[in-house]
Amino acid sequence: MSFNRKTIYADNAATSKLDPLALEAMLPFLREDFGNPSSLHSFGRSPRSILNESRQQIAECIGASPEEIFFTSGGTESNNWALKGLAKANTNNKKHIITSAIEHHAVLNTCSHLEHQGFEVTYIPVDSKGHISKVDLENAIRQDTICISIMLASNEIGTIEDIATISSISNKYNIPFHTDAVQAVGHIPVDIKKLGVDLLSASAHKFNGPKGVGFLFVRKGTTLFNFMDGGYQENGCRAGTENIPGIVGMTVALRNNYKNIQANTEKINNLTFLFKKYISQAITPVKFNGDQCSSLPGNVSVSIPGISGESLLHYLDLKGIAVSTGSACNSQSVEISHVLKAIKLSETLANGTIRISFGKNNFENDPIIIAEEIISYCKKINKVNMK
Ligand code: PLP
Repeated sequence: MSFNRKTIYADNAATSKLDPLALEAMLPFLREDFGNPSSLHSFGRSPRSILNESRQQIAECIGASPEEIFFTSGGTESNNWALKGLAKANTNNKKHIITSAIEHHAVLNTCSHLEHQGFEVTYIPVDSKGHISKVDLENAIRQDTICISIMLASNEIGTIEDIATISSISNKYNIPFHTDAVQAVGHIPVDIKKLGVDLLSASAHKFNGPKGVGFLFVRKGTTLFNFMDGGYQENGCRAGTENIPGIVGMTVALRNNYKNIQANTEKINNLTFLFKKYISQAITPVKFNGDQCSSLPGNVSVSIPGISGESLLHYLDLKGIAVSTGSACNSQSVEISHVLKAIKLSETLANGTIRISFGKNNFENDPIIIAEEIISYCKKINKVNMK
């Protein structure tokens, strides 16, 4: 095996490499065009104009209107704002929220915060592929349900949820619907009209944009309480001087990903196919988690009985290969991830799970190199059935 690159990054669901085009577009706003977009003097002009242009372009990428796009500091803030903003905006003393058991902690911990404040939350279970049941959802709806929040795609197992059908249930009862689309935006087509959502969260660093910037789509007519109080930025709804370089980088990265979405998806799907083929040919049994027919391109959650996912991660790290065990935010914890528990993976399989997430910057032979290192690890520890 000729392995002349020092490292392979296969953890694109945790974060992704900044698109060089995004970096280039950001630089003037970190240098000479440093002005505050709210300033009335000439230094405010260029940042103000790029802010308006970026809002327009982000809106176009997801089929929204510019007034429906609110820039935030990322996915966590967008999710917090959506849920706390809807909960606080309800004036009829309603207190019920519905979400799923496999949401990111940015949703789950927001819900638990709201529970401490007296709200009640129903966590809908998922099946073995990570889908919620429409019947369960409809049964969970109460007269005092304030909102429903179901993620578009899972960060851990890649499953893409049928949001259009789910949101139609929520629309039938006139309940605002939010989706955490952090893993989906920039990777699969996202059209807010087709999805039928009222609020949608996105984060730039997941689609080759910079970290610390994202957006929340809020459909016109949705009543949402402010999350950040202060100045009149973002139409008076989200205070704080705008992160202009971040917003510019996010916009360029998103447009570039969508411009090349077909070629990127094809490439990433081929990488995924190759990896799965190599692993399945060598190890038995091996389990690929999530819905293999409706999954994010490049997101491979693989469970190998007999191994420790964490030990394998460290072994691969020593070989210069970056993957993840569960979700990156859980990487400090040895507890089995709530997502793997929710899809009812056995403890042995859950312990032996790693997540590989390929992206547009991976090379053709990356899947083979990663698979070979995994296979050699499995042979070394001598606890895995090899074919
Ligand atoms: N939602 C999902 C599904 C995610 O995967 C993540 C990040 O891992 C977040 C929310 C949080 O996004 P951010 O890192 O921009 O705060």
